Amino acid sequence: MRIGVLALQGAFEEHINMLKELNVDAFEIRQKKDLEQEMDGLILPGGESTTMYKLLNDLHMFDLIKEKIEHGLAVFGTCAGLLLLAKKVNNHSTSYIQTMNIVAKKNAFGRQLGSFRTTGSFDSLMDVPFVFIRAPYIESVGEDVTVLATVEGLIVAAKEKNQLVTAFHPELTKDLTIHKYFIDMIKENLE
Ligand code: GLN
Repeated sequence: MRIGVLALQGAFEEHINMLKELNVDAFEIRQKKDLEQEMDGLILPGGESTTMYKLLNDLHMFDLIKEKIEHGLAVFGTCAGLLLLAKKVNNHSTSYIQTMNIVAKKNAFGRQLGSFRTTGSFDSLMDVPFVFIRAPYIESVGEDVTVLATVEGLIVAAKEKNQLVTAFHPELTKDLTIHKYFIDMIKENLE
């Protein structure tokens, strides 16, 4: 299995390390030609969504990414990656790739100057560690979206067909649960 990680900005290296621990062939996507390679999945990491969006446009990668996701490429967006995929970002003038039927709120979770850790359930899995850093949350989800996790009553993880998003950063923990979950999603997608 091959998974590409968008490596323009943000916490991409941590995702690559986790995928390697899970024996996945992981590679960095830095320019348009990297996107043209064969891949079974794509990770959009945390970082700064507006900066990533600008770079995707400047490097002429935006349309190709959107098209691949629309054609069923499995994608996992963490934090800023969630914002990139959301149909609408409610408190921001720009929405980005807009392939996922969720409305997100940027820099919205808790006291925004700090980050925080907690644990919670994720789908049927218990005690999964969540790390939040200036995190968004999901305000509302569309019909085909499954909510996978909530914290303090707010939606922090969801899935829609080939798309998985978390407002938190599993790559900043030592726990491989969420990456395994994404890999299982890809396997189901391939069957
Ligand atoms: N606040 C960031 C944004 O708006 C997301 C934070 C993160 O990815 N850790 O893009």
